[in-house]
Amino acid sequence: KSSISPLRRINKVINSYALARQKEIETLQKNAEFRREFIADISHELKTPIFATQGYIHTLLDGAIDDKHVRMKFLKRAAKSLDSLDVLVQDLLTLNQMESGVIKFTFTQFDLKDLIIEVIDQLEHKASKRDVEIIFEHEENTPYITSADRQKIYRVCQNLIFNAVKYNNNKGQVKVTLKASKSSIQVDIKDDGQGIPPEDLKRIFERFYRVEKSRNKKEGGTGLGLAIVKHILEGHKSKISVSSTVGKGSIFSFSLPLVKPVVIESKEAIQKS
Ligand code: ADP
Repeated sequence: KSSISPLRRINKVINSYALARQKEIETLQKNAEFRREFIADISHELKTPIFATQGYIHTLLDGAIDDKHVRMKFLKRAAKSLDSLDVLVQDLLTLNQMESGVIKFTFTQFDLKDLIIEVIDQLEHKASKRDVEIIFEHEENTPYITSADRQKIYRVCQNLIFNAVKYNNNKGQVKVTLKASKSSIQVDIKDDGQGIPPEDLKRIFERFYRVEKSRNKKEGGTGLGLAIVKHILEGHKSKISVSSTVGKGSIFSFSLPLVKPVVIESKEAIQKS
């Protein structure tokens, strides 16, 4: 039999109920604060391309439209601002769907080496415009078969390699390396660019967080890329890690499982046995 008196037992129940309610209220307050911050961030980010587009269009309406040369220049700039607005909205939707768990992951088996070759091919033009060289290191005859959502891992590699190009110096180098161990494949994306200060390093995976120095640079994107990368890798039970030295460069790494190719015995071998 319990030695606690009925009164103490009731008190205990009341206390634990009060504690649970208190926690619930704190969670709700945190959520409300998070939402407020998020809306403030989004509004701020949306304002930039909207203001720019407005500026170009109003200048055109105020008379610049009569000059053929200026007209083309401003229309092109307005179109570019709208394109970046589109990318921002797309990224926000993706992130929102990921955070609310709506996005489904479709796992298939594919060779990670082929995927990275595709990503590098796609980014080659942007890299050469910045005079950045992309090097890909992997074993020639090793299959790097993994089981993952190919489209989403494409996005991860695209974001990381593009960042390594964007935040690099002129004539810089990006080195992508694949290392297969017994059960996993590690992907390293190394650049010799500006690097990230230690106080920023722990925050770069937050949505909209940008290192102050890069904030003003025109190559800065939506500030959502690394948040998306983190979520996609979490969906694969993997993690992104980073090490960086200011003035020297950064290395971003993640791993995916290595799937052993199924050995299909030849007909001859089967008949012999
Ligand atoms: P963005 O769209 O601004 O590139 P990301 O979420 O991809 O946003 O990255 C967040 C911030 O982290 C960037 O704005 C940049 O300041 C910093 N960063 C990301 N990758 C690198 C890198 N390879 N070298 C230096 N800084 C980087």
